[in-house]
Amino acid sequence: MKRVLVIGAGPGGEAAAKRASARGAAVTLVEKNRLGGLCLNWGCVPTKTLLEGGRLLHAVRAAGPVLTGGPLSVDWEALRRKKDELIDGLRRALEQDLSRRGVRVVTGAAEFVDGHRALLRTARGDETIEFDAAVLATGSAPVFPPPFDARRGDVLDSDGALALERVPGRLLVVGGGAVGCEFAGLFAELGAAVTLVEMKDQLLPGEDPAVARVLQGAFERRGLAVRLETVVTDFDKTADGFTVRFSRGDPAAFDRILVCVGRRPVTAGLGLERAGVAVDGGRVAVNDLMLTSAPSIYAVGDVNGLSLLAHAAAAQAETAVDALFGAARPYRNDRVPRCLYTWPEVASVGEWAATARARGVDVKAHRFFFKGSPKALASNEGDGFLQVLSDRADGKILGAQLVGPHATELVHLFALALAGDMRTEDVHRVIFAHPTLAEGVREALAR
Ligand code: FAD
Repeated sequence: MKRVLVIGAGPGGEAAAKRASARGAAVTLVEKNRLGGLCLNWGCVPTKTLLEGGRLLHAVRAAGPVLTGGPLSVDWEALRRKKDELIDGLRRALEQDLSRRGVRVVTGAAEFVDGHRALLRTARGDETIEFDAAVLATGSAPVFPPPFDARRGDVLDSDGALALERVPGRLLVVGGGAVGCEFAGLFAELGAAVTLVEMKDQLLPGEDPAVARVLQGAFERRGLAVRLETVVTDFDKTADGFTVRFSRGDPAAFDRILVCVGRRPVTAGLGLERAGVAVDGGRVAVNDLMLTSAPSIYAVGDVNGLSLLAHAAAAQAETAVDALFGAARPYRNDRVPRCLYTWPEVASVGEWAATARARGVDVKAHRFFFKGSPKALASNEGDGFLQVLSDRADGKILGAQLVGPHATELVHLFALALAGDMRTEDVHRVIFAHPTLAEGVREALAR
C-alpha cells in the first residue's frame, strides 16, 4: 500500500487526501492550523457568506418602489455569527468525512527531512514519518509592500477585515484585484465611505478591460471612489484614524486601511532544500502533473503560484494524485473558471482576446448585453454583458468573459463548452429556456 503524506489541509490538501485514500493509499494529512485552510476559514466561504448579506441589501435597494417598508440595514454582528456557524459546521463535516475515508489527520507542522521522510511537530511531541509520495499544499500568505511592511499592526489584511467588530465609517481598500473589489463593494453597500486604490490602469488587472469598466461604473454609481494608477506613498496615524498620501491626488483621511495587494506562496521552514524541492521566483516549481524537482514530491494550490483559486488547488491535487498512481492527466490552467462575487458578478474562463490574438488566432467576439434580457431586467440586473470568443476560422470556442447577474454560475456553460472542445454552432444548436439569463449565450452566438 502506498504511503502518501499530505501537508496542509486547505482545498488542495483536502482533495489530495480524499483522492489518494479513494485510490487505496494510506494517507496522513498534516495541518498546523485549521482543517479547510484559507478557503474555508478565512477566504472563499466566509467572504461569500458576508457578501450575501450585502448582495441581499443591494437587491432590495435595486427593487426601488416595488418593495415597501422602512429602510433596511444589515446586522453586521448577526452576519458575522452566521459566517462563524457556517464555517464551524462545514469544518466538522470535513473532519467526519476525512475520518470516514480513513485519512489519518495530524494537527501539527510538517517539514521534510529528505525526499522520503518528514518531521511532524505536534503538541504531543515530534514524529518522523516515512512516505512513498508527498503532496505539498501549504498555501499562501498576504504580501505587505512599503509603506505597509514596517507597520503591519496599523493595517488590516483580509483576515482582519473578516474580524472587524463594526463596519468602518471611512475605509481605504488598497488593491483592486478580486479580494480588494469584493471587500470594497461589500463595505460600501453596508454604509462605509470606501476608496479603492489600484496601481494599474484598471480594476481586476488581467481581466478584460471592458469587464473591469462595467464593474468600476457600478461601484462609482454606488458612491465608491476608485483611484486607478495610484499607490499609497505614506500614512500617518491620527487621533481618529489615518491620513493617507497617494502618488497622485489629494491626501485623505480614513478610519481603517485594508491591504489586499496579493499573496505569496508559503515555502519557508518546510525543509524543501533537504528534500530536493526547487523554488523558482518564490513558488515551488512544478510540471503539468504538479511534480516538483523531487521525484516523490508534488506541490498543489497557492504554493505553486499557478492560480490562487480554491478549485484550481483541488484540480491540481487530483492531477498530482492520479500522476503518482501512474495516470498522467495534465492540469490545464486555462480551463479554470475565475469568479468574482461583486454585484454585478464577474467571471471568465479560457483565453482572453489579447492572448489568443498573440497566438495568431483570428478572434471573433460575440457579445450579449444583459439590458436585452427580460430576465435580467425583471430582477433589476440589466448591467453588464457576456462575451464569447471564438476562432473565426473554425468556430472553436476559446473563452468567455462575463460581467452581470449570476456570471459566476453562467461561466460554467463555457467551462463545459471548452471541456467538450465545442464550436459556436454546437452551442447554438442547444435550446435555452425563455426567459433565462442563459439564453443570452445563444443570442450572443447569433451575432
Ligand atoms: P490554503 O487554503 O492556504 O491551505 C494551506 C494550509 O496549509 C493552511 O491551512 C496552513 O495552515 C497549512 N500549512 C502551511 N504550512 C504547513 C506546515 N508546515 N505543516 C502543516 N500545515 C501547514 N478562491 C476561490 O476559488 N474562490 C473564492 O471565492 C476565494 N475567495 C477568497 C477570499 C479571500 C479573502 C482570500 C484571501 C482568498 C480567496 N480565495 C478564493 C483563494 C483561496 O482561498 C485559495 O486559493 C485556496 O485556499 C488555496 O488552497 P491551498 O490548499 O493551496 O492553500
